[in-house]
Amino acid sequence: MEKEKKNILKRSLRGKMLLLTVLPLVFLAILLGFVSTRSFTSAMLGEVENDMANQCHMIADIYDRMYPGAFRLEVLDESNYNLYKGQVDITAASQIIDSIHEAYGVEVSIFRSDLCVVTTMKDAAGNRQTLTKASPVVVSGVLETGEEQFYSDVILNGEKYFAYFMPIPGKDGEEIFGMYAIYRLASDVHALVLRSVLPVILLCLLATIVIGLISIRYSQKIVSYLQQIQRFMRALSGGKFDIELSPRVLELEDELGDLAKSGQSMQRALRLLVECDALTGLYNRRLGDRRLRRAAKRAVDYGMDYCVGICDIDFFKKVNDTYGHEAGDTVLKAVARVLKQHMTGKQMTVARWGGEEFLLLFENCKLSDAQKVLQQIHTQIREMTIHHGDQAISVTMSMGLVQAEHGASEDAMLGAADELLYYCKEHGRNQIQVKDLSQK
Ligand code: GH3
Ligand code: MG
Ligand code: MG
Repeated sequence: MEKEKKNILKRSLRGKMLLLTVLPLVFLAILLGFVSTRSFTSAMLGEVENDMANQCHMIADIYDRMYPGAFRLEVLDESNYNLYKGQVDITAASQIIDSIHEAYGVEVSIFRSDLCVVTTMKDAAGNRQTLTKASPVVVSGVLETGEEQFYSDVILNGEKYFAYFMPIPGKDGEEIFGMYAIYRLASDVHALVLRSVLPVILLCLLATIVIGLISIRYSQKIVSYLQQIQRFMRALSGGKFDIELSPRVLELEDELGDLAKSGQSMQRALRLLVECDALTGLYNRRLGDRRLRRAAKRAVDYGMDYCVGICDIDFFKKVNDTYGHEAGDTVLKAVARVLKQHMTGKQMTVARWGGEEFLLLFENCKLSDAQKVLQQIHTQIREMTIHHGDQAISVTMSMGLVQAEHGASEDAMLGAADELLYYCKEHGRNQIQVKDLSQK
């Protein structure tokens, strides 16, 4: 079942177009989402690093301004120290770092060498976590080089932090005294990054869906036009010439529109070849026969009346013999023109039935109305002079017209019209014989 589905996707143009539009889009969306998330994240982290560096400098500035002078550590015993800045013991006076902690949500520590002597970090009982040691990485990265460093993976109390360390220079160019440190919870930073990246991801997703829907809709439209053209071509190759292409396809100004227009021209050419008689331009016997059968069926299905006429040029052989075959052709064309001129109704069909014999079909028409048309044709042909070269030719016609008997076959109708024609030929030609079979 799955395999079948897959095959349909691959075999049908609709499936192929779907794959063609959806696959690259999904790929593009993933790529775009990935790249933008990555660059956004690294930009955000850069900003976080900058902020932390600024905060570090700000603390150093505040201390320098409030308590001018160098840092000095007074060791009381193994676990008691006093940190002086200038003349002031800042071990207990931690308002500066506490206010930074409050304002920016960061932890601040001041180190003497690798030993934390002042900090905002507190344990569960609320005691400041001093006397902790900086890791060897920080010692070698900051204390030994004298450079500021940013770390994105510092573990404190089992939690991951981003940390920024700034060395505190010693008095008069002595070795590094210690470090300022700013810590920020990694989970806070990640949440911030996610909050900033999420709209980008959602926008990417939305754009992908919208573009996807538009391109799917557009490609499906193209496929549906192609399918219409395909149905049209199939019908043509099956000999169904009545099929119409929708104006929307024909109005397209691209290659599809060209294809549709070519199909329509092909339909006209084929129709002419298959349904029309080359000499007179009238419908041929094949089409006449089909229309006759359709009329007979409609008569049965919907109770529609129809009339069938068979007309034949009188002594046509003589025309050929007297004026030549070409003149005969000219006569046939002139007669055909008259027939066409009068058989203009939507439900009228005139076809060349044989050499100089014509079928006239009147659908949904009363006998009297059909008879009037025949009378006009008969008169006009009798009165006209056909010129071929310097020859002037006149012909007459014999016509048999029957009103269809309800439920009778088309062959029976033809037979009856033929009988009337034969009667004309037997009784002086140049006349119309009419019979209403429905009144029998
Ligand atoms: P009737 O009054 O009994 O119908 O006599 P007719 O001479 O018209 O009848 P017949 O069937 O004997 O002759 C028909 C002629 O029509 C024979 C044939 O050569 C001629 N004919 C058939 N098709 C064509 C055509 O396409 N062109 C020309 N010029 N003549 C054709
Ligand atoms: Mg004839
Ligand atoms: Mg004949």
